[in-house]
Amino acid sequence: MTDVRERVRKFVLSASRWTGVARFASPYLAGIGAILMLHSVTVRPRRALGVNAHLSITPDFLDRAIADMKRAGYTFVSLDELAEAMAGKRRSVAAITLDDAYLDNYVEALPVFESHGVPFTIFVAPGLIDGAVQPWWEVVEELALAHDRITLPQSAGGTDLASRSRAEKHAAARQLMTLMTTDISEAGRQAVLDEMGGRAVATSPFMSWDQIEEIDRHPLCTIGAHTIHHYNLARLDNDVALAEMLGSADILEKRLGHRPVHFAYPYGYAAAVGAREVRLAEQAGFRTAVTTRHGTIHREHRDHFHALPRISLNGNYQGIGHLRTMLTGFSAFANSGRRVVTL
Ligand SMILES: [Zn+2]
Repeated sequence: MTDVRERVRKFVLSASRWTGVARFASPYLAGIGAILMLHSVTVRPRRALGVNAHLSITPDFLDRAIADMKRAGYTFVSLDELAEAMAGKRRSVAAITLDDAYLDNYVEALPVFESHGVPFTIFVAPGLIDGAVQPWWEVVEELALAHDRITLPQSAGGTDLASRSRAEKHAAARQLMTLMTTDISEAGRQAVLDEMGGRAVATSPFMSWDQIEEIDRHPLCTIGAHTIHHYNLARLDNDVALAEMLGSADILEKRLGHRPVHFAYPYGYAAAVGAREVRLAEQAGFRTAVTTRHGTIHREHRDHFHALPRISLNGNYQGIGHLRTMLTGFSAFANSGRRVVTL
């Protein structure tokens, strides 16, 4: 299903370029700029099954994307400056954000940011750093790769998934992903992964606390909060959701000596962020909060600081042409029928 959606999106991106619609629509739809969303940045993505390929771009693509945007007149700014730009007169501003604090952000992306003098924000979920929770989207891929058969714990149905051929492994990983986001509760997920042997197959792809403290001191870096346990907030009770938000800021403040003021909703899609989560982010005192909804930033967003869309630098779309079209705001308009995307 994702493949079909991706193909449609690629077609819309390409078609709008061929027809010149994107260029024509640009001044109206592009807004004042964009917040780019990245996850892993590495020359060696773990692509064995490819189910997480969208989360990984190469440092070379990052370098070319920044250079191309600079040539097109974009100025790269921090999230604070971008928030100010919404209330001011600046245009063509872009902020870079990276979710989850992948170690390669430090090792492979930082040199690119330094060479361009580009600020960036990394959103950290302390539970992923401590190992209290694992990145389940990667663990299920590793489980499918490591085993010919996966037995689900009784609490998760107890059935067996065949995982011998590449096609079976792919299907098993997809099935586990669905299970992890629907049938299993947020708080119960890690226990299920542990029972399936998740700890044995997957090593942490994230920075250590020492590395997060180090990169936080870098003048180009801002650290933002991303809940404690990387839970889907919309699946939590009010109090627990608010505690996840406040708690991540508390832990980061203790570690770093200053309180993060920017927040990224884990997953960030419609099933994870709605009006309630936006209210909670405001209540938690964050200055801005970003989703993973697809869209450019407009002046109107100054009234929606806690529902800011982003443009994904997606591993499946590592083409400058795609990026240029996305920055025109046309693809967001085509996707959502709206110029100003909030929720
Ligand atoms: Zn995340």
